Amino acid sequence: MRTIGLIGGMSWESSAEYYRLINQQVRDRLGPLRSARLLMYSVDFGPVEQAQHAGRWDDAAQILVDAARRLQAGGAECVVLCTNTMHKVAGQIQDAITVPFLHIADPAGQAAQDAGHLSVGLLGTAFTMEQDFLKDRLTARGLQVLVPDAADRQAVHRIIYDELCVGVIREESRATYQRVIQALAARGAQAIILGCTEISLLIKPEHSALPLLDTTELHARAAVAFALGD
Ligand code: GLU
Repeated sequence: MRTIGLIGGMSWESSAEYYRLINQQVRDRLGPLRSARLLMYSVDFGPVEQAQHAGRWDDAAQILVDAARRLQAGGAECVVLCTNTMHKVAGQIQDAITVPFLHIADPAGQAAQDAGHLSVGLLGTAFTMEQDFLKDRLTARGLQVLVPDAADRQAVHRIIYDELCVGVIREESRATYQRVIQALAARGAQAIILGCTEISLLIKPEHSALPLLDTTELHARAAVAFALGD
């Protein structure tokens, strides 16, 4: 089994999910007492979040480049960045290491294509919904990517940072996300990419009018596939 390297802490609420999902999948595939060989370098999210909102992406990249190098030096055979938003600096991280960087958009895009979807709604932070770094990787596959309108993007973004990243799950916020998903469905989305690694803490398949493509689950699955040499 190959050793997985996780860059976590953004937020640790979702990193804990990666840890659980990766180990569950290894157990399901290899047997009850089997578990993943993995390293996690969990950063302090505070300085990263401040750099994001100040537009100091190179400062945030430096923190993650340092984490990736430490993982590789510690024996990681791939690097998995446990946040969609920080894939804005994926290129800088990949350039700093020689082991593969497993991009979060690839398993999500593949799952959308495997299900035959042509048009997907994308929920995530404002950075992810408004900038091109993740969307481009999806549209390159021929997928149409729809994002919520400005007011809904603001609500989705606020709930991520003020609630989900600090472990708060509110019924009212679930209703907001359900309404946003309905609006994307009305515009033609056939499925929703949960393009933020905390959203699946709030929105489960039974809460959604559309099929969900959860980046946390799919990214964890891609890491396990790499580790087990699929
Ligand atoms: N975990 C989130 C994501 O997947 C948001 C936190 C962050 O800004 O990194 O985008």
